[in-house]
Amino acid sequence: MTAASAGADLVQVALPVPLRQLFDYRVPAGTMVPEPGCRVRVPFGRRTLTGVVLARTARSDLPPERLKNLAAIVDRQPLLAPADLAMLTWIADYYLHPVGEVCAAALPVLLRGDKPPREAEDRRWHLTTAGRERLAAGAGRAPLQFRLLAALAENDAGLDAAALRLLSPRWRTALDALVRDDCVAMAPLPEAYRGLREDPPAATPGQAEAIAAIGQSHGFRCHLVHGITGSGKTEIYLRCIERVLAQGRQCLVLVPEIALTPQLESRFRNRFDAVIDVLHSGLTETQRLQAWQRAAGGRSAVVIGTRSAVFVPLARPGLVILDEEHDPSYKQQEGFRYHARDVAIKRASLAGIPVVLGSATPSLESYHNALQGRFQLTQLHERPTRAGLPAVHLLDLAHLPVEHGISRPLRDAIGACRARGEQSLLFLNRRGFAPAIYCPACGWLAHCPRCDARLTWHRAADRLRCHHCGHVGSRPRQCPQCGEPEVISLGQGTENIHDTLQQLFPGAVIERIDRDTTRRRGELEQRLTRVHAGEAEILVGTQMLSKGHDFPGVTLVGIVDCDQLLFSADFRASERLFQLVTQVAGRCGRAERPGTVLIQTRFPQSPWLQPVIRHDYAAFADMALAERQAADYPPYTHLALLRAEAAGRNVALAFLEAMHRLAQELAVTTPSVEVMEPLPSLMEKRAGRYRAQLLVQSRQRAPLHQFLARWRGAIEASRRSRTVRWSLDVDPVDLY
Ligand code: ADP
Ligand code: ZN
Ligand code: ZN
Repeated sequence: MTAASAGADLVQVALPVPLRQLFDYRVPAGTMVPEPGCRVRVPFGRRTLTGVVLARTARSDLPPERLKNLAAIVDRQPLLAPADLAMLTWIADYYLHPVGEVCAAALPVLLRGDKPPREAEDRRWHLTTAGRERLAAGAGRAPLQFRLLAALAENDAGLDAAALRLLSPRWRTALDALVRDDCVAMAPLPEAYRGLREDPPAATPGQAEAIAAIGQSHGFRCHLVHGITGSGKTEIYLRCIERVLAQGRQCLVLVPEIALTPQLESRFRNRFDAVIDVLHSGLTETQRLQAWQRAAGGRSAVVIGTRSAVFVPLARPGLVILDEEHDPSYKQQEGFRYHARDVAIKRASLAGIPVVLGSATPSLESYHNALQGRFQLTQLHERPTRAGLPAVHLLDLAHLPVEHGISRPLRDAIGACRARGEQSLLFLNRRGFAPAIYCPACGWLAHCPRCDARLTWHRAADRLRCHHCGHVGSRPRQCPQCGEPEVISLGQGTENIHDTLQQLFPGAVIERIDRDTTRRRGELEQRLTRVHAGEAEILVGTQMLSKGHDFPGVTLVGIVDCDQLLFSADFRASERLFQLVTQVAGRCGRAERPGTVLIQTRFPQSPWLQPVIRHDYAAFADMALAERQAADYPPYTHLALLRAEAAGRNVALAFLEAMHRLAQELAVTTPSVEVMEPLPSLMEKRAGRYRAQLLVQSRQRAPLHQFLARWRGAIEASRRSRTVRWSLDVDPVDLY
């Protein structure tokens, strides 16, 4: 058998199947060869699938008799440009993820099928002088044309396809006839960027330095802007964007959570007279497609979006910005486990443009890169408004009177804050009423039947809920183990703190913001509006409150419990603690009045709390980096985690033991790669399945990836891999 070759027109296609290779197909004689980036329909087994052409080629490793013909070509114009395809291929290799699934993730849902792209619906039509004359002449033989003319006459800005379709399903034919007669013309599309709407404030020296550094980078450069909360990072982004837009290029702005960034969006809209698209979960699929087409067609100036927006193609990319770069939500935790920050950096490097990472609490990975000179660092230590940072104090729970989780000084501070007519915010990262239900007689604890976890009591709903698998049960009236007539609750969640505060401050208006109180659409916005209007005196909430939103009226922040983070198994816990306290503290005291932050802890001597009190990121980072280096953790090493789960106990572990033996054989040629022993996961049972994991570590990236590619191939080929659900996570963020 000889390989197919010479002369034959072949294409390599990425298909949405869980296999990592490309598939070769023959282009039938007489058919034009589709360009890379076009979708095609191909026979695959007994099905026909839609995939994306990644390359043309003249030869295939397949014997000619096994090469099949393309069934159809979907797109005449490529949907994805060569630079986008290069990025997607790199991502697939880096994360060892099937390239077809990566391509699918990069396309809007409406382009994942086999429908040709719909006409860009932001095109509008308007009446011409001839059209007005025909309208004035009255209805003739074509009543639908007349209706279109009348409708267009009423809308000076013109009408788009969606509006015209409402007039009649046969609008298109009538419109075409009117266009042919010059009665109707397509309105010119708005320019992507038309100019500034307002004058920017004069930059502070720190801002000017960052703006100049970013503006001077020719080609790719990664900038890290480390500035305390409120130091003017967003203003730096706006100035850099302005320069890029003035050059006729586009900007991509990534944020961790869109629901909490209406403030950001309005700042962009106030500053720029431009086409700005915000990709958020409230968009319909059609709107999402339109925004995607505007970006890919170069018709939008700025695209703002969360994690997955990192894949949106831009016709003329000029700058990528990633705000709150430390935020863990940039890492996709299931399926295709990419990190949007790392993808953004790679994307900028392939496009030859600068990328700006901003944060008040940079990830240690990025900060380390800056110290090593790989990223250019700018630091802003002051707020342009001159507002000071809040004073941070520790409250020692072991030596203070405490009622239902609230210590006396915290209570007094809230009271004083109320008396001054100011707002306070209490932060507790635990929703529900109590994290445990307990029998005082025999020690029984309510456990989830499907997880190694306790059930949380939600009192308003009177339900016991598992926060890991969603299991819901009712609270036993008596102990199921010994019959003791009363079981009690232990510890506090936000619901409980809310209650306690209500008792301590009768008549106070308290707003609780957590996942339970914001389930319905629009509820979060309503609650935030009440807070901003000053109606709420006290806010209680989970980390939903720590992100992005500013509460200028808040002058007191209470952190009810930070001890979980001081004693977590997660090597990133101290980093999370610093980030969390800094971010929550940064929400308050933005106006003239200085803020205060009170942290309740049983361990006020912990060395990790000292830099928190002093707002000393550098001291924190020095300590944390030294610890990481001593323990061989990132950023000094690179990690990959093989996870497995199965319904039977020990099945996943047995699978990982087999994969561990395989790995040790393979790692012989890559001695810098260290393969750890497989272990049951910290929460071994979750949602009824038993879980285990195996960590691989290396000081060097290249040998790790060589090893991972071979190992993953061997895992896929092993029959055992079919007995479990498994995944390989490159650069895992959550290790537990
Ligand atoms: P960050 O993004 O670091 O939190 P912002 O860009 O939101 O900071 O700036 C904080 C506040 O300071 C905002 O109200 C902003 O309008 C204001 N501000 C930023 N830069 C300047 C400046 N150069 N002059 C005056 N006010 C500024
Ligand atoms: Zn009991
Ligand atoms: Zn559970």
